Amino acid sequence: MKAVRLEAVGGITLRDVDMPDIGADELLVRIEACGVCSNLRAIGIHRDGGFAEYLALPQKQAFVLPAGLDPMHGAFCEPLGCCLHGVDLAGIKPGSSVVVLGGGVIGLLTVQLARLAGATTIILSTRQASRRALAEDLGATMTIDPTTADVIDAIAGPVGLVPGGVDVVFECAGVRETVEQSMRLARAGGTVVIVGVTPQGVKAEFEPFDLLFRELKVLGSFLNPYTHRRAAELIASGTIEIDRLISRQVSLEEAPAVIANPPAPGEVKVLVVPRRG
Ligand code: NAP
Repeated sequence: MKAVRLEAVGGITLRDVDMPDIGADELLVRIEACGVCSNLRAIGIHRDGGFAEYLALPQKQAFVLPAGLDPMHGAFCEPLGCCLHGVDLAGIKPGSSVVVLGGGVIGLLTVQLARLAGATTIILSTRQASRRALAEDLGATMTIDPTTADVIDAIAGPVGLVPGGVDVVFECAGVRETVEQSMRLARAGGTVVIVGVTPQGVKAEFEPFDLLFRELKVLGSFLNPYTHRRAAELIASGTIEIDRLISRQVSLEEAPAVIANPPAPGEVKVLVVPRRG
């Protein structure tokens, strides 16, 4: 079968490989679609993943998708499950105000979930205009270009959109700048949920006095514990818009170049579809 292999730093290639050996507690899964993602530790990192025709998968990690669910949509259960976990932790209430920093697939799914959870003010900051426009279609009530606006003043300043700050901030970019912004965008007593993965070793500056004085709750949200079923239901029921997040589908042959290069401007999610090849 064909599989995309990471064999060295920067060495991503398409190979003909043996079919996976299946252990007693494993399943053989034929891959319909696998999303290209930033840098997590999971299946596809420590053991072979979905950039192949077939995958050996521990049974306990397998999930049967609802009947009729488009496999291209099924590939979004994992990222949506991660966003659900973050939204669960955040404790959004009807009428809450929310800021989402970063308009990639994670930020755009979080905007949709925040709307579903009852937030009535949802502000997204991201640099690309096409993503800001998409976010407004998907439920953001306001978007900000962080390259032309002072994000903190524009949102939480005395004459900002939500003077004093918002109830919940989701950091979904994974860069130092947005981590630092997130602490200053939450209101006193507000919640900051760190979803973005900053590279190990990156440090961010904040004043402990500020966290203490304003009683901020700063939470980390990692992966998708026990949220897969709800993610699948939300996608299968059409409650969450997926089609507009799929920028393009590529074959296994095209995958190495897609994985090795940054996304093209305007792209949100690229899916690798083995049977396209
Ligand atoms: P992504 O496509 O790279 O989206 C992040 C986006 O943030 C960037 O594309 C960029 O879009 C925007 N950004 C960068 N700098 C910014 C800034 N200074 N201000 C505002 N926006 C900025 O990645 P993703 O797939 O959506 O994932 C987002 C983050 O979540 C990544 O760090 C990823 O590793 C992480 N993640 C975490 C979990 C978890 O379980 N915690 C799960 C999946 C992913 P523009 O070019 O439009 O600015």
